[in-house]
Amino acid sequence: MVPHPATLDHEELLVRRGRRSGAYCIVAVHSTALGPALGGCRMWHYEDNRAAMRDALRLSSAMTLKAAVAGLPLGGGKGVIALHGPVPRGAARRDVLLDFGETVDAVGGRYLTAEDVGTTTRDMAVVARATPHVTGLPRARGGSGDPSPWTAVGVEAAILATCERAYGAATVRGRTVAVVGLGHVGLPLARKLSRRGAKLVVADIDPAKRVEADRLGAHWMTPERALTAAVDVIAPCALGGVFDDETVPELQVAAIAGAANNQLAHDAVADALDRRGILWAPDFVCNAGGIINISVELGPSGYDPRRARQRVHGVGDTLRAIFDAASDGATPLTAATALAERNLTRGR
Ligand code: NAD
Repeated sequence: MVPHPATLDHEELLVRRGRRSGAYCIVAVHSTALGPALGGCRMWHYEDNRAAMRDALRLSSAMTLKAAVAGLPLGGGKGVIALHGPVPRGAARRDVLLDFGETVDAVGGRYLTAEDVGTTTRDMAVVARATPHVTGLPRARGGSGDPSPWTAVGVEAAILATCERAYGAATVRGRTVAVVGLGHVGLPLARKLSRRGAKLVVADIDPAKRVEADRLGAHWMTPERALTAAVDVIAPCALGGVFDDETVPELQVAAIAGAANNQLAHDAVADALDRRGILWAPDFVCNAGGIINISVELGPSGYDPRRARQRVHGVGDTLRAIFDAASDGATPLTAATALAERNLTRGR
């Protein structure tokens, strides 16, 4: 089973071949029941255009769930640019981004784009030349900027709420946390946890990141070892699919909360974790800080980082409500999905 399989219960799917670049630009709108469909633009090499479409369909439905569980007035969408040649630079990059912007514009505001894997805040400024339906523009242009530090703020709040449930106190002081993946989210998260007095284990496939581990005074491990180390919390902050039927029996941890999307290879892994008494904080709840930050930009009074911080800290309260609901025998995954469904039904 694939996490968030590509269903076809979407409101819209637009596929256009860019007139400048020839690249296929795809916009999938899964749901606008709660508001305009928000989701980043992924610029990626796919096996073929069908795979790119499937990715847009799959990721847009995951965004519906993420926005709904966070209680945001936003729906789920996703943009994809399917690359065929090398990663475009200079004028070629501008052309592909303008083609994508025209595709976004053709959806008439029912889809709002943002940066994602393969695109940057600076790219969004180019997309904005072709459409007003762009979020996460640089702060200097009135946007909410890079979402990653905000995702880290939300994951930090999630880890504190998870510690509270698993260990009885909302603190990481003296606890050992393994941060697996020291990228745009994992590194600021590790710094925050270190400031809060956590003992850190860190891991990355990129050996250059070891310098950061030394700066943090953290213990460096390979990702495989870090995921099965005897620590208090694992924070997966790299790729998805890290927990499956083989890895769950190997775990020596009681709590998991991190940024990586689709951490479970399939939904039944949530039951396996529960049976082992491991508290798993659903990824799509933990990593909503970035879109919560964007939602502030879309509010009536515009972007305000103080309001953003306050709302992103709400990730902890959402998780507490999910853990409460899960105490009657449901898993946190089932409880989180039920909360999203309730919010969606109310919106409809
Ligand atoms: P990133 O690309 O900046 O960082 C990922 C890091 O993980 C890199 O340092 C990379 O070398 C490392 N890595 C890759 N494969 C690994 C492996 N197998 N084991 C250990 N490390 C590995 O990505 P990011 O923006 O920090 O995002 C991290 C995760 O969080 C992704 O799953 C992403 O989808 C999810 N996420 C990010 C955001 C955001 O705002 N950036 C929002 C929601 C979800």
